[in-house]
Amino acid sequence: MKIKSVESLCIDLSGADGIPLWCPVFARVTTEDGIVGLGELGMAYGSGAKAGPDMILALAERFLIGQNALETETIWETMLRRSFWAEGGGPIVFGAMSALDSALWDIKGKAAGLPVHRLLGAKTPAPLRTYASQLQFDWSDRVKNLTDPEEYRTVGQQVREQGYDCIKVDPLMVAPDGTRETNLRGYFEPSRRQMFRKRMEAMREGLGDDCDIIVELHSFTSTGTAVQIAELLQDLDIMYIEEPTHYNSPSAHLAFVQRSPVRVAMGERIYTRWGFQPYLEAGAVDMIQPDIGLAGGVSETKKIADLAHIYDVGVQVHVCGSPLSTAIALQVEAAIPNFIVHEHHTYALKDCNVSLFERDLQPENGRFAVPLEPGFGMELSKKAEQLAVVRSVG
Ligand code: MG
Repeated sequence: MKIKSVESLCIDLSGADGIPLWCPVFARVTTEDGIVGLGELGMAYGSGAKAGPDMILALAERFLIGQNALETETIWETMLRRSFWAEGGGPIVFGAMSALDSALWDIKGKAAGLPVHRLLGAKTPAPLRTYASQLQFDWSDRVKNLTDPEEYRTVGQQVREQGYDCIKVDPLMVAPDGTRETNLRGYFEPSRRQMFRKRMEAMREGLGDDCDIIVELHSFTSTGTAVQIAELLQDLDIMYIEEPTHYNSPSAHLAFVQRSPVRVAMGERIYTRWGFQPYLEAGAVDMIQPDIGLAGGVSETKKIADLAHIYDVGVQVHVCGSPLSTAIALQVEAAIPNFIVHEHHTYALKDCNVSLFERDLQPENGRFAVPLEPGFGMELSKKAEQLAVVRSVG
């Protein structure tokens, strides 16, 4: 099953539906027998997505063209060892490796006529528990920065009516005037603590008692201010605090864990087993959140989950991408023993995102059925093909 050609697809949707930066990037791999696989690079948000296609094509030209698409282990290890830069890491090289690896798993599934979770050896599970993510941006067809505690109460009630029993919210990042907060490190004075507290009290009241809450801090906080938040909110029965401090510091995370009354989740900016190992070894994380489009694709994320399993650490795959990233996450989550909960981002409701694929993947009553089509079962829409900047090698 020789790889004939590889394309990069870049679709810049920044500004659509109120999403400031949104640029999904895909790898599309075609074999000589005409099987096509799709993978996604996990940098749709933030800055730098457009650096992804160059790396996808560079790795593909050197390490994929002419190889057997079924030999994912060999191809992944070769990209790691022989690209030179991958052993140093970072989102560009690992994002590109991830997109290519996942595309090969799509091909493997289509060749075998099986969904990827079956290829990974798993029985199809019951629909996966799913949480409504990033509620500070509202839960509708357009991003809105929520400021008033009443808005937090209302959005909580709204997702409960849709059947969700778990949510995530960042109560800090939106300033009272609706702009993004810029100074969340150092020390929170009483007036700010009261604002965060009022939002979270309203959120809890809107959700009711029988709903889990993940508090997202986006690494905007320092260890000190994150501990202030954990102490401020602990009586609201918080499931996890996410990204409390600087990413590349297991020691800062360990300091947080030792002082926080709330457990910690993190991992969307960590790559490969080598990246996660020091956090797991130190006992500095309770639930990891690898992004399959960044951590190394399906092959490597499965191994990261297995590594976490021996430390009794659970997994919630980080999902903030196109509907393809949802499809890939569901397949991997269905196949790991330490799955905790699936992330459904508020961006996954937006038309600019949903319309990129033929199929709209949404949960029902807060539970996500794992798709059973071969591979990931996702086809780009005509609209996506028209919008994409496509380049190819092979
Ligand atoms: Mg996050």
